[in-house]
Amino acid sequence: SDVPEPIEEIRQKMTSVKHKILVLSGKGGVGKSTFSAHLAYALASDGSKEKARGLPGPGSDGDTLSQCTRDSSIDLVSANCGYNSAVIRQTVVALLDVDICGPSIPRILGLDGEQVHQSGSGWSPVYVEDNLAVMSIGFLLSSPDDAVIWRGPKKNGGFLHCFMSHTVADVPQISMIKQFLRDVDWGEVDYLIVDTPPGTSDEHLSIVQYLSSAGIDGAVIITTPQEVSLQDVRKEIRFCKKVKLPVLGVIENMSGFVCPKCKNTSQIFPPTTGGAQRMCEELDLPLLGKIPLDPRIGKSCDEGKSFLSDVPDSPAAVAYQSIVLSK
Ligand code: ADP
Repeated sequence: SDVPEPIEEIRQKMTSVKHKILVLSGKGGVGKSTFSAHLAYALASDGSKEKARGLPGPGSDGDTLSQCTRDSSIDLVSANCGYNSAVIRQTVVALLDVDICGPSIPRILGLDGEQVHQSGSGWSPVYVEDNLAVMSIGFLLSSPDDAVIWRGPKKNGGFLHCFMSHTVADVPQISMIKQFLRDVDWGEVDYLIVDTPPGTSDEHLSIVQYLSSAGIDGAVIITTPQEVSLQDVRKEIRFCKKVKLPVLGVIENMSGFVCPKCKNTSQIFPPTTGGAQRMCEELDLPLLGKIPLDPRIGKSCDEGKSFLSDVPDSPAAVAYQSIVLSK
């Protein structure tokens, strides 16, 4: 065959993964990993009767709720989407953290110090819940403070060797990404969420190339309301167009602060140019949601707990839920 070998291997591995979603951001520190983790939490706690709004549903082949009757009951949604409401099963979510700049997913999910094990056919992910599996470069480090030097895979074993170091030199990230996509044993999965490094780089290009024949649903782009962040999002969107990666939508994070006492919203990062809303209108992209600043998000993440179950009624948790759930 004229298909390069890893692409074919990855395509085969991905036949058990229904939907693949990349999470992108123009800049670091805008909340991309926090969002990826909470999208995973929310989808995994989602019954099979519920679906991601604006994202493909777990039981469908690419249908989105927006293509269904919006005000329909769950059963109507099911009927419209070819969803089988008689079969109730949990949504299975896989979260892959390839943010080599600073893998923060293990900390956010309370999985610091966890390690991956090699199974007969690859690497076993780490499970947060029965239906939420995680793989992160962080698991391959003994200490979350250590940087890592990657040595290429052994010729036959395909197992990656990493060595601790305080300097990152000559890191073959692409090789790591390839191995993550090819060698992790996810099993049957509804959603694979890939937390990517900030910006657009060769790593992004290779993820898109590696997954191309397996099919990627698209990208969700995270930004803050600030113009500095939005400018980089525009670059991100141009990248997506160039590599024919559909943009599922944009999330505006740190979008105002709701005072817990008076309930008024203050703009901490005033959107001088209209924020993500204006940009989305201009570029004809869906704004999937606005998540306010909430110091309890940082606290939950530092403690490795789900903010959504920690403070479910907070405006930020409600904003997260309304992005993800179709209820
Ligand atoms: P990125 O992955 O884009 O680099 P992170 O997800 O690591 O960003 O988030 C950066 C910091 O901002 C973290 O300390 C996180 O807890 C915090 N954070 C993210 N979103 C919010 C929010 N809506 N409110 C308050 N803090 C947030």
